Amino acid sequence: MTAYYAAPLAEAVTVLERSRVGDPATASFGLTRSARNDYRDPGYARLAFEARRLWLEFQERSGEPMLVDCGCLNLAKSSVTPDLNNTYAAQSFAVLEQLQLRREVFSAAGLQERFPQFDADGGWLDVDAGFIDVVAVTRALRRALRARGVRVAENSVLRGIARSGRAWSVTTDSGLVDCDVLVVTAGLGTNDVLELVPGCSVRFPLRPARPLQSKYFIPPARMRGLFTEAVLPVFAYLDIGIYGHPLYEGKTPGVKIGFYHPPDVTLVWDGCSPSSPCSRAPSTTSAALRPPGSLTATRRASQR
Ligand SMILES: Cc1cc2nc3c(=O)[nH]c(=O)nc-3n(C[C@H](O)[C@H](O)[C@H](O)COP(=O)(O)OP(=O)(O)OC[C@H]3O[C@@H](n4cnc5c(N)ncnc54)[C@H](O)[C@@H]3O)c2cc1C
Repeated sequence: MTAYYAAPLAEAVTVLERSRVGDPATASFGLTRSARNDYRDPGYARLAFEARRLWLEFQERSGEPMLVDCGCLNLAKSSVTPDLNNTYAAQSFAVLEQLQLRREVFSAAGLQERFPQFDADGGWLDVDAGFIDVVAVTRALRRALRARGVRVAENSVLRGIARSGRAWSVTTDSGLVDCDVLVVTAGLGTNDVLELVPGCSVRFPLRPARPLQSKYFIPPARMRGLFTEAVLPVFAYLDIGIYGHPLYEGKTPGVKIGFYHPPDVTLVWDGCSPSSPCSRAPSTTSAALRPPGSLTATRRASQR
């Protein structure tokens, strides 16, 4: 995306990729990613909303749907988190309010009426949110980069970076790339690249943050209609480390359920940690997702 926005500003843009676009080992690999503004840090929420604007712009230009605006619903239940006003849902909602972003709050009865799939005491909806179709984004970006004349050099192992006057020279296994501006977008590999920059002492405290588990629950055919992106929002109960995405008809196999401990959230369950899930934590279905009737969800292998 950085190359996409840089292309109109430069004579030539080259992407040096250590592996290949769409490598499953990268953070951006998967079928879907939440796109939300409901963070507790107003600065971060503002950045998320700005990122959304860029996604919408890219979607409009590419003519392909990639941002699914189903909203993001934060849930809370007093038998699980008794102090509802102190939950992630209520706190992030206050930030949406402060930033005047579109939002809706539901009482237990209101939630039951609008989203009968959930069994909770309240729902706090981030309206301008949803999920990104990562497969569509990757495809559209490849196409757009080609159209903008960006060279994507896959399997480029960086060997050295040198500075001469105002120019940079990057040595790779397959040759030298000279440029005026060098932008590092290497995710978890960022510090490895900075290591090569002469005189650069900046390093970032990066560490991988992955869900403990990510599964697809497959509703029976007669109930699929209750769980698609047309009626079900992205949902989260981050105080207990659960989030999910609706079934994206034709694109994903089922309802994605992730068990994730965001680094800035203290789980309500004593002794829980990202490496040791808590045995007292309720199951996803008993805490929040209530399939009307009897849903015999099938577990599928994890597919980020
Ligand atoms: C399982 C999972 C679920 C997530 N869910 C969400 C979500 O729902 N919503 C959300 O907003 N965020 C989510 N995130 C976070 C989000 O996906 C990442 O923040 C984002 O994709 C990072 O993109 P990136 O381009 O910075 O990093 P990456 O996608 O990792 O890309 C970095 C690229 O740099 C390349 N590279 C690395 N080192 C070098 C080097 N030395 N030389 C050349 N190339 C190099 C890599 O090969 C890679 O292609 C999730 C992350 C994970 C892992």
